[in-house]
Amino acid sequence: MAKLYYRYGPMGSGKSAQLLIVAHNYRDIGRRPFIIKPATDTRSTAVDSRVEFLSKEADLVAGSDLDLFAAVASAHGKGGPIACVLVDEAQFITPQQVNDLFLVAVRLDIPVIGYGLRTDYQAELFPGSARWLALAQLEELKMVCRCNRKATLTGRRGPDGQFIKSDPSESDQVVIGGSESYEALCPTHYLEWVGDGRFVRS
Ligand SMILES: [Zn+2]
Repeated sequence: MAKLYYRYGPMGSGKSAQLLIVAHNYRDIGRRPFIIKPATDTRSTAVDSRVEFLSKEADLVAGSDLDLFAAVASAHGKGGPIACVLVDEAQFITPQQVNDLFLVAVRLDIPVIGYGLRTDYQAELFPGSARWLALAQLEELKMVCRCNRKATLTGRRGPDGQFIKSDPSESDQVVIGGSESYEALCPTHYLEWVGDGRFVRS
């Protein structure tokens, strides 16, 4: 039986690059990958890795209302069977869409691999990533902080280049930035640079 997988890691852990390599490997053996990306990411309709020269158009740019089970089932019936569904920026699909993809794995017997963040820059789960964590087999993609310790969190820089401080009143999670605005941090440097605003009791 096919499974749902969530390969999560902080910014810069090569999530999109790995997605593109997996897609390439399927095509190489004559099988059909199906790449989905959420419409939330309006930069482009392509999956763009920060690894140079890696980019590929998504097969489906999905709005948040789209039934992904129906969309994949339809594509599976046309243009040859789908061997694997790959989801870029997977934290941005809705919890219902993660449910849709769970059904794709179980009922259509097509493996689904989501590549995404676990937490936002406020160290909180995205609604989508919470659902992935609940339903999927988890695989962590590793990344190091600039101090060389393991990075588990992501900090975000504002236009002034400074880290945006951890703020318990902040809830705007959907900010898409280029590579310049995010940095993977170890817990020590997260608390030092982003701050402990969401951790300490007020
Ligand atoms: Zn560090």
